[in-house]
Amino acid sequence: MFEKVLIANRGEIALRIHRACQEMGIKTVAVHSTADSEAMHVRLADESVCIGPPPAAKSYLHIPSIIAAAEITGAQAIHPGYGFLSENAKFAEIVTQHGMTFIGPTADHIRLMGDKIAAKQAAIDTGMPVVPGSDGAIKDEADAKANGKRIGYPVLIKAAAGGGGRGMKVARSEDEVLEAYNTARSEAKAAFGNDEVYMEKYLTHPRHIEIQVVADSLGNVIHLGERDCSLQRRHQKVLEEAPSPALNAEDRARIGQITADAIKKLGYLGVGTVEYLFEDGEFYFIEMNTRLQVEHPVTEMITGLDLVREQIRIADGAQLSVSQENVKFNGHAIECRVNAENPSTFRPSPGKITGYHPPGGLGVRLDSAIYAGYAIPPNYDSLIGKLIVHGRDRAECLMRLRRALNEMVITGVETTLPLFRDLMNEPDVINGDYSIHWLEKNLKAKAEEAGS
Ligand code: ADP
Repeated sequence: MFEKVLIANRGEIALRIHRACQEMGIKTVAVHSTADSEAMHVRLADESVCIGPPPAAKSYLHIPSIIAAAEITGAQAIHPGYGFLSENAKFAEIVTQHGMTFIGPTADHIRLMGDKIAAKQAAIDTGMPVVPGSDGAIKDEADAKANGKRIGYPVLIKAAAGGGGRGMKVARSEDEVLEAYNTARSEAKAAFGNDEVYMEKYLTHPRHIEIQVVADSLGNVIHLGERDCSLQRRHQKVLEEAPSPALNAEDRARIGQITADAIKKLGYLGVGTVEYLFEDGEFYFIEMNTRLQVEHPVTEMITGLDLVREQIRIADGAQLSVSQENVKFNGHAIECRVNAENPSTFRPSPGKITGYHPPGGLGVRLDSAIYAGYAIPPNYDSLIGKLIVHGRDRAECLMRLRRALNEMVITGVETTLPLFRDLMNEPDVINGDYSIHWLEKNLKAKAEEAGS
């Protein structure tokens, strides 16, 4: 087993990885920008290396500095977390070329799934159901029109290099298709340096259902059930839960099996998530994430498995610690992504945290790297904590979550906690009755009410 792992990330996920390493008796190396010298992941790690100034491009994304930090400290493996370099195939290759282990899938699999057109083709080839759409990239304006006609409106134009919900545009009729096509292309070019786009049928009331898979180097593949991430704002997840209130046991077993079989055919290694939209009883593949996800704790809470420990063990060549038959789902879990943002306008609210009281008690988990007196730098993502609650069933989970949200205090900066407290009183949320469009509609209605 590795003796020392470098964690190429910051915030709550750096801490999460550190915790798994500690339990396994592995020493950790934190890297940080000058904006993060006082950060908790730096304080708790066994060693730390400053890798550059605040802009991520000059620190957390700067590959030579991270490799140098690993070499100086003698780390044998690098865990990329999520975001930053976690889905950068070149980085995975460079780590390996330097004689270290990249804790994640192979560079080839990262590259394949990073190109969403190629990923969709791989999904088709391995038997996963996909959203009806264009055959590969859209070539020009005439091709956009022809595809719109064939697929049927509304359609969604998506960036081949997409991520974070960027470069996505809806066209509701032929009148809108050229503008949507050209805007999506220029947004994709600006965000990813690649203007290739493709077209899909725009589903009007789907749920976002994703399947967690884990594969070891001995050919064993398991799935750990689904997560429902339908509460979204701007195609970004806000609250996630497992199991999904919308799936029955049959749907769950079917999509889990299809996904695990496909992942085996791909020869995939490590943890990964296959994302589907689910509408009127049908699943449609949209993408695969080749890394640990923000919402992985809800799966951990209902399976009892430590996904980071599994990642590290698999990277070291070990066998999966459980077989599919031994995966037992227990109860219900919900995660709220607490951001340092205004809860109505979602404007980031960096600054000093003057007071902090984390909730506790049975079934309550808080993954966060903040503390009283900590100053949230303005340079990075606004996620400051994840509140994860487990209950024997969904009703108990909601009851406990409501209580934990009321108990949690963060002062000095604005947070999205009030948004979650409001959501706990929404009948649709209580009943688990929401599609991916529910939250946007609800927020819009609230804003109009407040404005009138
Ligand atoms: P990204 O990589 O940018 O996150 P995804 O393909 O994962 O893009 O899609 C993100 C979200 O966008 C989905 O969870 C869903 O809310 C929405 N979305 C994606 N494809 C479609 C579609 N064909 N119809 C309706 N909504 C979609």
